[in-house]
Formats: sequence, structure tokens, C-alpha cells
Amino acid sequence: MKILIAEDDEISARLIALSLRTLSKEILEARTGTEAIEISRHNPDIDLILMDIQLPELNGYEAIEQIRQFNKDVVIIAQTAFAFAGDDEKAMIKGCNDYISKPINMTLLKGLIAKHLYQFQENKQDDL
Ligand code: MN
Repeated sequence: MKILIAEDDEISARLIALSLRTLSKEILEARTGTEAIEISRHNPDIDLILMDIQLPELNGYEAIEQIRQFNKDVVIIAQTAFAFAGDDEKAMIKGCNDYISKPINMTLLKGLIAKHLYQFQENKQDDL
């Protein structure tokens, strides 16, 4: 699985990358919303984007909206710093397949990945 981690906090990005190592053949990282769009544009084969919502330059919502204009298929999981409650907030996450609140519970994240990308299974690196 090819993954893009869009996260401005380098330590958080490292931790996610480490946890998803066995699931991925390649991990790309973006530090800003603009960078996330550019990397997505140049890598149409990305399977999963983990999009932090609070990103510099362009936030995660805007980045998702723009990425969806040229890639409808990639699975996008938004990482949010707060729990969603109202409909307004739910409306804002349209365009992503799912969301997870921060700090990220890795077991929960792997469950979401299994739900949306069931074809990728852990410990089958030879096939990736
Ligand atoms: Mn952030």
C-alpha cells in the first residue's frame, strides 16, 4: 500500500509511519496542505491519505476538496484534533472516507484501514 501522511507535526508523522510500516510499501509525507495536493497530483497510485485537518498554508478540508477534483478513488482518512459533534462539522468532512480523532489510536486506525482497504493485509509485504 502506498500511503501519504499529511501532518505538520514531524514527531506525529514519524509515529504514524512507524506504526504503518508493515502495511506499506511506500510512505510519502507532506507538511502543508499545498504539499499534500502536489504530492497527490504527482502520485495517482496512492492508496491512502491520512490528512491532518490543521495544516499550514491550506487546511485539510481545502486540501481534500482539491484532491477530490482529480482523484475520486483514493481513500482519505481525516485526522482531527477534536471530536466531531454537529452536522456542520460532519458536512466539512465530506470528501473523506472516514475520520479519526487525535491523538491517534493506532489500533483504531488499522481497523479503519482494514474497513476501507480490505485488500491490504498486514504481514503480506511480499505481495505489496
Ligand atoms: Mn496539524
